Amino acid sequence: MSPATVRLTPVGVFGGTFNPVHYGHLRSALELVQRLHLEQLRLMPCAVPPHREVPGCSAEHRAAMVELAVAGEASLACDTRELRRPGPSYTIDSLVELRGELGEGYSLCLVMGCDAVLQIADWHRWRELLDWAHIVVIARPGWQLPDSGEVAQWLQAHRLAGGEALRQRPAGGIVVEQLRPLAISSTEIREHLARGHSVRYLLPEPVLEYIQQHSLYQ
Ligand code: ATP
Repeated sequence: MSPATVRLTPVGVFGGTFNPVHYGHLRSALELVQRLHLEQLRLMPCAVPPHREVPGCSAEHRAAMVELAVAGEASLACDTRELRRPGPSYTIDSLVELRGELGEGYSLCLVMGCDAVLQIADWHRWRELLDWAHIVVIARPGWQLPDSGEVAQWLQAHRLAGGEALRQRPAGGIVVEQLRPLAISSTEIREHLARGHSVRYLLPEPVLEYIQQHSLYQ
């Protein structure tokens, strides 16, 4: 079979602290499923972020909120593997595990926002990420991809023309997708909650109820 006729099934994994999960994550996730024909996109809460303060809200609470947010949407799921691994939650370790589970018959897509790409050179074994997965970058309001330096060169060297190319090999390419811009951040949500302001309509109602029931972010 020539490379042009290979059609692998693409599966996505979207890592983050999800502290808490919000409609910026969720709508982007659903739009990517549709745009890239992903069989599934797994939101993967990070237990111990290697490059930022350990969140005040436990990984179990953050994962429970992701579970509530994706309930009823078959194309989205919560992947809790990083909660089960001790030590810092390195994405490379999760990709190696996922690839072991999926085998070579799937195209694996690691999804991240533009802001995450700007920090990627600090990630553990970052240049190896593309050995295990493709990277799908979501353009995010307020953030721009670098236009010079080692990350810019890396983006350019591995950039694929479009989503279709992701299905022709299991890993190794980078695509940038412009989705519906939603300027929502978990930081802003935490700040509103800390001031006693409403965050209704920024995240799903069951997530809001969970926050209230467990008195999170006060
Ligand atoms: P915080 O404000 O605490 O940094 P966040 O809102 O950026 O949180 P994270 O859990 O850190 O959320 O993000 C997980 C992933 O989702 C990152 O790759 C980030 O770029 C992306 N992301 C977060 N919010 C949005 C958004 N509104 N639109 C597109 N991507 C987003």
